[in-house]
Amino acid sequence: MSKVLVIGCGGVASVAIQKCCQVSEIFTELCIASRTKEKCDALAAKLAGKTKTVITTAKVNADDTAQLVTLIQGYQPDLVMNIALPYQDLTIMDACLACGVNYMDTANYEPENTEDPEWRAIYEKRCKEAGFSAYFDYSWQYAYRKKFEDAGLVALLGCGFDPGVTQAYCAYAKKHHFDTIDTIDILDCNGGDHGYAFATNFNPEINLREVSAPGSYWQSGHWVEIPAMSVKRKYNFDQVGQKDMYLLHHEEIESLALNLPEVQRIRFFMTFSQSYLDHMRCLENVGMLSTTPVLYEGREIVPIQFLKALLPDPASLGPRTKGKTNIGCIFTGKKDGKEKNYYIYNVCDHQECYQEVGSQAISYTTGVPAMCGALMLLTGKWNTIGVHTVEEFDPDPFLDALDRYGLPRSENYTPVLVD
Ligand code: NDP
Repeated sequence: MSKVLVIGCGGVASVAIQKCCQVSEIFTELCIASRTKEKCDALAAKLAGKTKTVITTAKVNADDTAQLVTLIQGYQPDLVMNIALPYQDLTIMDACLACGVNYMDTANYEPENTEDPEWRAIYEKRCKEAGFSAYFDYSWQYAYRKKFEDAGLVALLGCGFDPGVTQAYCAYAKKHHFDTIDTIDILDCNGGDHGYAFATNFNPEINLREVSAPGSYWQSGHWVEIPAMSVKRKYNFDQVGQKDMYLLHHEEIESLALNLPEVQRIRFFMTFSQSYLDHMRCLENVGMLSTTPVLYEGREIVPIQFLKALLPDPASLGPRTKGKTNIGCIFTGKKDGKEKNYYIYNVCDHQECYQEVGSQAISYTTGVPAMCGALMLLTGKWNTIGVHTVEEFDPDPFLDALDRYGLPRSENYTPVLVD
């Protein structure tokens, strides 16, 4: 019997909420709160009569800690699921601390305004010291560790698929298959086709920022940074086929390097079509990916936010997207003194997701792990106080829940390795 407050009602949140409502014996009461309350009301109406979970809705600006505190104090949840945007991570963590409630999210903090001089000074120092230049990193949320420990609360960071399930796969590989892991390659393949010349399959601003940034990987205890999209490989994915994939910086590399220090190399690859890359390069070259406001006819506009208004809403891709995703991790290492390779992954079908929850597989593969992570916290299976990423918890009950609630694992003991 638990009460959960979900903040955000976009593509990922709407899947997570529908999945929570499938487990109404645990998620007995749910409040959906977001900036645009109409979206929360529409989802509540869609679920009316289909679940035993008691759903209420609320309007909140999650950039404002005081508003969040009022909402949390009024609703008294056991857990706050932050499925808004990474920009709100810190304000929501502050509100959870103020109210004594556990916290979770699906992406690590990044600032909305990357030109803010105070943030920029800290960022530039971190770029020099750590050796990667992504706008997001865990330092902002790790800074809350002591506060959460002192308050006896849990903060679960990055519990989507990647980050999220990929780290559970790493913990699972370490627990069951290896004495030592030497290399981890995380492979994220989207073999889906939505028929548009260009669209992003989750929040365009977050997605395009991530993809247009320099790539980086972890090698022998330090970061190696490379120009965006400069390392390309081909891989033949189970149930999808051969795709081009590119090395990207990705947030879980940072926490995995910290929590699995024996691993010599950690890389992240994502598949992109040539058309996607051509469009993105063009948009970048003309300045449409910029987050710096420009004055247009007397009005300030942020180019990437204007672009977001032009692009198809990711939530609208569901009915059009056909094909499958395949996301997982390939490990090399040693077991009982012998060299060993292992690949664990999930294959998810866009159309099956759409039939079940009205969303494509990208929202589905993020929303289901968010629900399963919440389930781990609410049932006390993951209860280590402090601020933690997924690989720090027991992977077994989490992977069992994923198997059961829509993202079953597949395994391969003789995978083709990525050179
Ligand atoms: P959407 O843009 O579809 O949804 C974001 C939601 O947050 C919207 O409902 C939006 O409200 C709401 N929101 C934004 N700002 C505020 C605010 N200030 N106060 C209250 N609500 C706000 O994003 P997605 O669903 O695609 O992504 C959600 C999260 O999931 C992101 O953090 C993203 O980075 C993460 N993600 C993680 C993945 C993983 O594998 N770990 C993969 C994909 C995404 P409104 O409707 O008014 O705009």
